[in-house]
Amino acid sequence: MRPSRGTRARGGITRREWLAWALSLGGLTASGACSLSALLVFLARRAEKMAAQATPTPSPTPDLTPTAPPLPPELIRREAWGALPPDHTAEEEYGFADADNPTGWYVYEGDLAAIYTTAVIHHSYPLLRDSGTMRALQDLHMRTRRWADIGYHFGIDGKGAVYEGRDIRVRGANVAGYNTGTLGIVLMGNFEVETPSRAQIVALQRLLYWLKQAYRLTHLAAHYEFNPTTVCPGRHMYPYLSLLAESLGLQRGTGGYVPPQMPPKVQSHRRDQGCC
Ligand SMILES: [Zn+2]
Repeated sequence: MRPSRGTRARGGITRREWLAWALSLGGLTASGACSLSALLVFLARRAEKMAAQATPTPSPTPDLTPTAPPLPPELIRREAWGALPPDHTAEEEYGFADADNPTGWYVYEGDLAAIYTTAVIHHSYPLLRDSGTMRALQDLHMRTRRWADIGYHFGIDGKGAVYEGRDIRVRGANVAGYNTGTLGIVLMGNFEVETPSRAQIVALQRLLYWLKQAYRLTHLAAHYEFNPTTVCPGRHMYPYLSLLAESLGLQRGTGGYVPPQMPPKVQSHRRDQGCC
């Protein structure tokens, strides 16, 4: 389209500016030095003007008010709930992971923010909301499933208390085939038959907020999304997951999972651990 008067022509210069430059050049042609000087002045002013135009207009200050205080949750530590120490002779999580024992106890090295992308939510089936305990879960995992420790990194009881589970520097045991690089969080309850309490949902939101800040989490997933043979964390929990993800700016589902570098897989009789 042909530029109208005052509009930008080629190179972002208006017709009026081209005309002014041409007139200044023409008026000074009696002296070649003066015309060159005028051209240089014109070009310098033009460069200043274009630089000023290239500076973006500041946008309004975004509202960075957090949805919850960026503080770690008030954790009930392992000692307080009577956790047993890890058992490194456990049949299904024997010894420490290496190239010959990929399903062993695996301690992450380096920055955990480079390891974790996704929090995975569980319910504590068969333990019920207001009677399930971390110690009962640990017993289930260590004595029945023969793992080295409780499989989850955090637990939340019916009153919204948040418990420390497996050491966060250690790979969890709760999502078969996807334990490496995922954080496991269990809410006490069988949410196929009961609903999570408001206190549990609020506590989960605060915990996820903190984990997102601390480890740059990007995704929130339900256990069943990784392992479709389970219904965990129960149909009464499903609607909350999307609401929580939206409120925290997390994406839903398994799309953020990136298998971290692990020792090469070797033949092993041991299963990769999943829970309920
Ligand atoms: Zn589960």
